[in-house]
Amino acid sequence: MSTNEPSVPIVCDECETETRVPLDDLADALERHNAEKHGGESVAEVDPAIKDRLADLVAEDLGLFDEDAAERP
Ligand SMILES: [Zn+2]
Repeated sequence: MSTNEPSVPIVCDECETETRVPLDDLADALERHNAEKHGGESVAEVDPAIKDRLADLVAEDLGLFDEDAAERP
């Protein structure tokens, strides 16, 4: 288990901002930003440059993109 939590850049085209958030916080931070700034529209998103890597990372670490993760023994 790692104590060095990876942070993930969230970019927003409309706000022209980039914010780094802990992986744990990613979904909340995205939802919160879009809810507060964009009336719930999905404007901000994970930096596309690392999205692919993130998908691997998350799939391995958390299983967020892997529905089979629920089948842990
Ligand atoms: Zn925004």
